[in-house]
Amino acid sequence: MVAATFDYYAPSTIGSALTLLSDNPNAKLLAGGHSLIPMMKLRLAEPDALIDIGKIEGLSSVTESRGALAIGSMTTYFDIISSEAVRASAPALAEAAAQVADPQVRNMGTIGGSLAHSDPAADLPALMLALDAEMVASSRSEDGQISARAISADDFFVDLFTTALAADEILTEIRIPAAAAGSGAAYAKMANKASHFAIVGVAASVTVENGTCAAARIGVTGAGSSASRASESESRLVGSSLDEGAILSAAGHAADGIEMNDDIHASAEYREHLTKVFALRAIRAAAARAG
Ligand SMILES: Cc1cc2nc3c(=O)[nH]c(=O)nc-3n(C[C@H](O)[C@H](O)[C@H](O)COP(=O)(O)OP(=O)(O)OC[C@H]3O[C@@H](n4cnc5c(N)ncnc54)[C@H](O)[C@@H]3O)c2cc1C
Repeated sequence: MVAATFDYYAPSTIGSALTLLSDNPNAKLLAGGHSLIPMMKLRLAEPDALIDIGKIEGLSSVTESRGALAIGSMTTYFDIISSEAVRASAPALAEAAAQVADPQVRNMGTIGGSLAHSDPAADLPALMLALDAEMVASSRSEDGQISARAISADDFFVDLFTTALAADEILTEIRIPAAAAGSGAAYAKMANKASHFAIVGVAASVTVENGTCAAARIGVTGAGSSASRASESESRLVGSSLDEGAILSAAGHAADGIEMNDDIHASAEYREHLTKVFALRAIRAAAARAG
């Protein structure tokens, strides 16, 4: 299939990208192109213009300050996997990025493209929820001022292919706070054998203080229309000693409140089962890391 015709722009600054975005209401931002271009070839997306943000300096870096990470939206999976800062401060994120697709996709696909696309089977949204990340969206006002707002991961993933980003905003940075002492996080997924997209993926993060679980965040992807938190599982972990009984009880409720996808890859019933199984694996691994 061949995409419909479109204009192509490659701005070198975020300001000119934002101007192009507001001047071209039917334009699409182009990051790694590994979700957008296939959709255009299938004519599921027919933008009048593509605004390639790959030439803008400063969007593909990882900086670390006291364990907190600031990751530019154009940072590729490969760069995340290779980043010593990510591996030191958020190893679960590097491990999840390494499980995305194949080397070709990991070399081109970006964290910003993945999060902005909000594919229900994407891996990284679950990590953003578990690691309590913030997405920074930049926009330009009528008087030309560029401003930015931070959107919590809890508010960012709204529905199938839908995020809290406004049409005139560009996701420019992802902020991951430093993990508290005694924290551990992990990601476990059942991958589609062909694409490696998550049929179900679960990211878990726990913090242990004086032998008791003081905080827990669990993000589930692939199960429902968009990534979401397993709140009942989290409440069952907090206050426990993260013993096997508490972990089993928490994992058994990981599917609560999720309207399961039912498609050619897995039935709703099977996805519910997988959600509990992969929650168990992710929580156990996170607890082991938290010590
Ligand atoms: C064969 C194959 C296998 C795959 N397997 C997996 C997998 O196992 N796990 C997984 O998670 N993903 C998988 N993917 C998806 C892949 O990770 C995509 O690259 C990713 O989802 C989108 O990132 P991108 O940089 O390519 O974005 P693009 O395709 O360029 O853009 C995607 C969408 O996001 C918008 N967008 C991009 N950047 C921004 C921004 N900064 N601000 C606002 N909007 C923006 C675009 O306008 C577009 O609508 C796979 C893709 C392919 C082709």
